[in-house]
Amino acid sequence: MILTKEDLISKLNLKADEEAWFNSPSSLPLKISDYYFSLIENKEDDPIRRQVVPSCLECVNDASIDPLKEVKNSVTTRLIHRYTNRAALLTTDRCFTYCRHCFRRRFTGLDSGPISEKEIDEAAKYLSKHSEIKELLLTGGDLFTLPLSRLDYLFKKLKEVRPDIILRLCTRAVVTFPERFTDEVMETINKYNYGAPFMLLTHFNHPRELTNESIEAVNKFLSLSIPAFNQTVLLKGVNDDVSTLEELCNKLLYNRIKPYYLFQGDLVQGTSHLRVDIKDGILLDKELRKRLSGLAMPQYTLDLPEGGGKIVLTENHFVAEDEKYYYFTTPEGESRKYPKKDKQVD
Ligand SMILES: *Cc1c(COP(=O)(O)O)cnc(C)c1O
Ligand code: SF4
Repeated sequence: MILTKEDLISKLNLKADEEAWFNSPSSLPLKISDYYFSLIENKEDDPIRRQVVPSCLECVNDASIDPLKEVKNSVTTRLIHRYTNRAALLTTDRCFTYCRHCFRRRFTGLDSGPISEKEIDEAAKYLSKHSEIKELLLTGGDLFTLPLSRLDYLFKKLKEVRPDIILRLCTRAVVTFPERFTDEVMETINKYNYGAPFMLLTHFNHPRELTNESIEAVNKFLSLSIPAFNQTVLLKGVNDDVSTLEELCNKLLYNRIKPYYLFQGDLVQGTSHLRVDIKDGILLDKELRKRLSGLAMPQYTLDLPEGGGKIVLTENHFVAEDEKYYYFTTPEGESRKYPKKDKQVD
């Protein structure tokens, strides 16, 4: 595992901006698993390297540390209730590898640590009183860094109070630390695999992350009838070209992982060098729609600043309306109209 400057220097020729990070390290620590590091090709612009090797480009005070206003929307120390019918539980601040683009920098890898039994009880109590919540995201940090006994307690408690809630297992460990998914871990999951389903939410950003090891880890969930969905972050110099995204999405679908979201980078401090302009993102979305099937196509999505919530970004096809018609442009740029309901003749 790579945790220090010495670890990193012994394996990689650092660029000036990477070396300079160590002079004033930003809040998110350095941590790269040996497995994930082995995917790096020793090139300056390697897309795997860009996601995990820190750079002094992070060390700027350019944006918010909590643009999604998660702190304001927290209802217990660990539970965020932003949308009526779903909530997110921050199960730990730890990950097996820290991503330089992490949008939860205010929290990740700092000092909260794993969720305590008391905090689990607190969240369970809230959930028991809020039947409008139908889905719970178990996120962090990475859920699967929890000790197995704590993971067991978490599942046990949640199933006890709300067996009807769909539990999303949000994890990047299948990408960065696939050896985590031992028989014991899978048995713990399967022990609670009744009632409302578990769903696996992965975070693959580049086709080279879909290795035999990571696919095998995902297959362990699929073989328990747990469906898999993927959330990609659109990242400059990592996956901001249409061919890379096309290959990623097709490879995900082929391996039974449904591309779910393609996220526009949040306005989080220290991540501006990894962000893509929204206009360029919409052009990528447009081109991807031509190349991918509906099943392989993720939703390009922006979580609006100041806690505004998620919206889908895509080319606008609805252009105008008059008394009788709605007017559209086709993906090829031609015009079409569709009559308003009260003007239709059967
Ligand atoms: C994104 C998000 C969710 C889940 O939203 P979906 O659109 O259903 O994936 C839930 N809670 C919070 C706080 C979120 O940011
Ligand atoms: S795995 Fe998720 S929570 Fe952890 S550093 Fe990466 S983006 Fe942040």
